[in-house]
Amino acid sequence: MYTVRLWSVRHARGFRRVYAAVERYIPWLAPLMRGIGLARAEAAMRPLERITKEFLFDCRMCGECVLSSTGMACTMNCPKQMRNGPCGGVRGDGGCEVKAEMPCVWIEAGLGAQRIAGLEDAGADLTTEAMPLLPPRNHAHDGRSSWLQVICGKPTVEPIPRFSEDDVVRHEPGSLETACHSKRFVVTVEVAPPDSADPAVLIARAARFKGLVDAINITDGAGGNCHMSSVAASAILSAHGLIPVYQVACRDRNRIAIQGDILGAAALGVQNILCLTGDDVSQGDHPEAKPVFDLDAVSLLRIARGMCDRGLYSSGRKLDRAPSLFIGATANPFAPPYADRILNLEKKVDAGAQFIQTQFCFDVDLLEKFMREVRRRELHKRCQIIVGVGTLGSAKALSWMASHVPGVHVPAAVLARIAACADQKAEAKRVCIETIGAVADIEGVAGIHVMGHKNEDVLAEIINESGLRERERIT
Ligand code: SF4
Repeated sequence: MYTVRLWSVRHARGFRRVYAAVERYIPWLAPLMRGIGLARAEAAMRPLERITKEFLFDCRMCGECVLSSTGMACTMNCPKQMRNGPCGGVRGDGGCEVKAEMPCVWIEAGLGAQRIAGLEDAGADLTTEAMPLLPPRNHAHDGRSSWLQVICGKPTVEPIPRFSEDDVVRHEPGSLETACHSKRFVVTVEVAPPDSADPAVLIARAARFKGLVDAINITDGAGGNCHMSSVAASAILSAHGLIPVYQVACRDRNRIAIQGDILGAAALGVQNILCLTGDDVSQGDHPEAKPVFDLDAVSLLRIARGMCDRGLYSSGRKLDRAPSLFIGATANPFAPPYADRILNLEKKVDAGAQFIQTQFCFDVDLLEKFMREVRRRELHKRCQIIVGVGTLGSAKALSWMASHVPGVHVPAAVLARIAACADQKAEAKRVCIETIGAVADIEGVAGIHVMGHKNEDVLAEIINESGLRERERIT
């Protein structure tokens, strides 16, 4: 089946032509279907549609078919059920983060879309047009016939409108939002919550950065590993006068639980959230756990905005009081498909992201290329781009991270430079400070996000020694 699926993507243009012809004439069958009765027509059509589409596309019968806008690649084959573009964990060779032997379905979708547009010879760096912004999956549609919808002239799924500044309900900005709208460089740091029911360790780790950073990201089961919940850890920091960015991953909770947590976080004084899809469970310490992925980061962003700006749950039910949050998302300019990364960022901005934090930057050339396109599309004027940097104690540790942490790219030259030094820890720190200097010189970068697992002292030294706090950004 998998071979047939790849063949179908290779022949996406032919399939698209067939689809276009069918879409034109098939509504003529609508009176017949109504005569038979839609329920009976659906029961008759479903098995035929399932067999045909399963054979050709590995179709999962989601009932919300968008094959013709995803290059004839069924993106429901994505293990994380990404609806709006690739996750940040695509491997360097284009393989899926979760199933290494399978190419990322979003790379297939991009290639299929290029073939449909007749642009397959234009080179791998060609960006295809952005696909529509899709809402979260409606699981009540599972197994339903999309063909019948097309016959009846109904869209299989309604794309969601792009977020407009006019939608924003102005609220009193928190300190991170205020810093983001100033001219100076923003500095954030990442802290992992402890494996403990005692908050003292967390408070001590985070307090190390008081006065040094604008906010402290609290990771949510990073790498698929279990720790204290990010909502609880963020609330603890808030109660101690620190400014958390509450990270929310889609891996472990469905939309009901996530929306409840967002309300709870806001009620406990949290002002900033970061929406992520999350690493797969196979990477972490509970590989036997069930991954949820009811939402992807784009749909989570849209839901969070709806809660803040319209005071509504995603179901449309009204909140008594809307949360007031500064909402961010992630981007990974350092993983393939490089050209689609900018479209992915644009989708997140269209879905309402107000700030972006990137994956670790060890390759400034790749970042510069990405930022050129950010400036060309003026995305840096619509959201704040904060670039991730970090360090580990040795070339071996960095090399391990590059091969085990999804989406992290460390150039061979950087590894060789650190490996060649007697004091690898000091050299890795120097590399990080130099990277910060180079990143801060790129027009459109609003700040730096410093990361490093349980390495708080070195991170604090890096922030101090790089002179980040005194810098103004280049706009
Ligand atoms: S790499 Fe990510 S987006 Fe691509 S198929 Fe795998 S899980 Fe889905």
